Amino acid sequence: MGGERVPPRICPGCGRSTKQTRVFLDQRFCDACWARRRRATQTCPGCGQTKVLAFYDEHQRPACTSCTGNTSSFGCNNCGREDNVFGACCATCTLADRLTTLLADTTSRVHPQLQPVYDALLAGPRPQTTLYWLTRRSARPDILVMMARGEIAISHTAFYDLPCNRNVNYVRDLLTATGVLPPYQPLVARIPSWLRALLDAEPKHRADLVHRFARWHALRRLHMLGDRVTRGSVLQARNAILSTIKFLTWLDDHDTELADLTQAMLDDYLLAHPGHAAMLRPFIEWTARTALTSELELPKQPTTQPEVMLSDEQRWDHVETLIHDNTIHLYARIGGLFMLLFAQPVARICRMRANQITIDSDIVTVTFDTEPIELPAPLDQLVRDHLNRPGWASYVSRPNTWLFPGGVPGKHLTTETMRSRLVSRGIHPNHARKAALFQLAATMPVPVLADLLGLDPNTAVRWAALSARDWGQYTAIRRETDMPS
Ligand SMILES: [Zn+2]
Ligand SMILES: [Zn+2]
Ligand SMILES: [Zn+2]
Repeated sequence: MGGERVPPRICPGCGRSTKQTRVFLDQRFCDACWARRRRATQTCPGCGQTKVLAFYDEHQRPACTSCTGNTSSFGCNNCGREDNVFGACCATCTLADRLTTLLADTTSRVHPQLQPVYDALLAGPRPQTTLYWLTRRSARPDILVMMARGEIAISHTAFYDLPCNRNVNYVRDLLTATGVLPPYQPLVARIPSWLRALLDAEPKHRADLVHRFARWHALRRLHMLGDRVTRGSVLQARNAILSTIKFLTWLDDHDTELADLTQAMLDDYLLAHPGHAAMLRPFIEWTARTALTSELELPKQPTTQPEVMLSDEQRWDHVETLIHDNTIHLYARIGGLFMLLFAQPVARICRMRANQITIDSDIVTVTFDTEPIELPAPLDQLVRDHLNRPGWASYVSRPNTWLFPGGVPGKHLTTETMRSRLVSRGIHPNHARKAALFQLAATMPVPVLADLLGLDPNTAVRWAALSARDWGQYTAIRRETDMPS
């Protein structure tokens, strides 16, 4: 081409003037319009294969390069297929290449033990998505790299030293699902790393005792349950461990050795910590059995807390999804959280006015009735983002603006729109609005709450503090507006 000057022309695809053009079906398109056409592969009428149909055949039908005797290639540099383009190669070839690099042992070949992972990831339905997953640092494919290079063992034990979070857990589940690691009970297997992080913050004498209790009682019981382990039984075990730490801290604060614990002291503790007897029972029974304490009596009372958590587990899962999943429309995330956390009916949420939200420097509050409620992170940020979205600033200055404006000017979002968005994520407003989850959060130890919501413990502390308020009036509102919506 050299110094040849190409005059700008109008792209027939987008109507913009462009200098760079490429031919597709005898028309000259801009790069972007050409690339879009190049990606839209179809069945070629000549050879029946999935191809880029960029040329006309003798019957004036769009057909593929080879059926029309052309030479320009749209194929993958490696395998020749024309669909699924990803740079110079197809996504599958690119993925095969990346996986080989990722899972290579010291001989630059895929580590034989990790071959099933290679096969499973390559056979996935969407290689582009897998490629994207591999490039995210937070996704932790580095664990696989370290295993391939022999820097960490390919075993469940390796995970004891890794943080317990969803990305690490995903890699572990992947290794198990592909048969590289033997099956395990994920909920139980994650306890050791959780416990270690917890005990790191405790003085040694306390950490040692809790560790013994966890190992010889709480974890052992879970292992004995085998396949019958539920999330509820794991939460109970964790609660027993957390309550034990709390109780031992109290004993230390009262300069009392465990061996000197009297019935009167235990009664005092339970009086000052109502609702803790059930969670503390496993520890007290264990210490009595192992003669660490004398025989002590615990009041018989129904174990309400774990039951509450079990029945509401699904709803907490929904809260977690709405907090973190940014593929859900922002209004549906906010509406769904208002519904689950504050037990507000969907119809009432859709009718909310923008002035029910107040943003005062770094505090965001919502008022459902008379009392403003401070929104904890990250819910406050979701509301901020909702109010800061483009085009909203001029709109919000008008009085009586809806918080969730609908498609029709002057109307709020319909209940059905909000409801269908939530239902599409498995959140059914009729089932969901049993009670304000915030109220229940008050009965939950902060680390359990943090774990349920996938939040940092410091953030969960704020959730727990908020939930400790008086919820009587919200229950009243709920009853009054509890009509089918
Ligand atoms: Zn164009
Ligand atoms: Zn063809
Ligand atoms: Zn290819």
